[in-house]
Amino acid sequence: MQKRVNLTINQKYLKKYLNGYPLLEKESVKSWNNITKEGTIVNLLDSKKRFIAKGYYGKQNKGYGWVLTLNEKEKIDKPYFSHKISNAIKYRESFFKDKTTTAFRLFNSEGDGVGGLTIDYFNSFYMITWYSLGIYRFKDDILNALKSQVKYKGIYQKKRFDSKGQYIDDTTDFICGKEAPSPIIIKENSVNFAIYLDDGAMVGLFLDQREVRKTIRDKYAKDKSVLNTFSYTGAFSVFASLGGAKKTTSVDLAKRSLSKTKEQFNINNIDIEKQDIIVQDVFSYFKYTIRKDIKFDMVIVDPPSFARSKKHTFSVAKDYVKLLKDIVNITNKGGTIVASTNYSNFNMNKFKLFIDRAFKESNRKYKIEKSFSLPKDFRVSPKFKEGDYLKVLFINCI
Ligand code: SAH
Repeated sequence: MQKRVNLTINQKYLKKYLNGYPLLEKESVKSWNNITKEGTIVNLLDSKKRFIAKGYYGKQNKGYGWVLTLNEKEKIDKPYFSHKISNAIKYRESFFKDKTTTAFRLFNSEGDGVGGLTIDYFNSFYMITWYSLGIYRFKDDILNALKSQVKYKGIYQKKRFDSKGQYIDDTTDFICGKEAPSPIIIKENSVNFAIYLDDGAMVGLFLDQREVRKTIRDKYAKDKSVLNTFSYTGAFSVFASLGGAKKTTSVDLAKRSLSKTKEQFNINNIDIEKQDIIVQDVFSYFKYTIRKDIKFDMVIVDPPSFARSKKHTFSVAKDYVKLLKDIVNITNKGGTIVASTNYSNFNMNKFKLFIDRAFKESNRKYKIEKSFSLPKDFRVSPKFKEGDYLKVLFINCI
């Protein structure tokens, strides 16, 4: 028998949970004191001890756990997870069939009914990410539910247990099946990508930007000079180059970005000699471009929500306007800025206000041409709109 703990919802939050809100917030219940163990099943009750919802306790950056069902009788066991995973597979049927894209998200946390858990597909290999020790306690049931429903070559995992979502570096992230080559090559809209399943926290590609990359390649890049800031493995640069960009310039602080970006260009037969890959703090690079009067037709900016370098601490919430102003400065008239953020604490409207401020303070006019949020495989729960964290705008600089 699973141990269960009853928690009383604070009156203020009652309506939210009655309506199906999935996140257990610290303040939402009267006391968490009875719980000692991550993964404990909790029943949320109202003040009259009536059942409202059932979930699990698992501390992560967003909260204290997630609601799993509104049905008091439902057990949280292998059939429960099998059902969720089966629905998730059905929802991605078209992705499994698509031969030109072989990497996508199979299970997206509360969007697929189980907060704190994601599963990504990389060309017959699967990557499970556990966002708390609490959800990790269900590993056997979840793994068995997955294994019994998909054909897989191998399964890997990432543990991001602590409250900041930081990655826990085990000796290996491999769980079962066959070990993957390092790297494996996946396709995204016919473009090759090297993916490392067992090399630290990140695998080399952020799948949620798929449609943005495609739009850059198919509709924007031709004959443009393109600057990709915070470029990581150069994914946007590769797509820009394949879309006919005159030249791409990728700038990232991390030393590894140089070899990683070269690798992505190489496996797509792009001439590296014609591209610039620069390992530098973007803020120093902006100063350099202003000194040399270098401008671009297209600038892509997709920074991390927080970053600390030797010279700067950057936070999207405080510094995005200033960052955009630097970028407006080095974008040609008629050019395009692709502004992106995955910061979940503000929504698209607030992001648009940041853009507006940056242009007003730069005395420049602009027009928003396209707007993107998460793609279909990153399924969002209608009860948890803040789960749709991605905001990307294509801005024409007039
Ligand atoms: N835009 C990328 C993902 C960015 S991940 C993509 O779509 O693939 C964030 C990257 O920002 C990391 O590679 C990190 O090294 C880099 N970074 C953080 N602070 C930076 C700074 N001040 N200057 C340049 N790069 C920075």
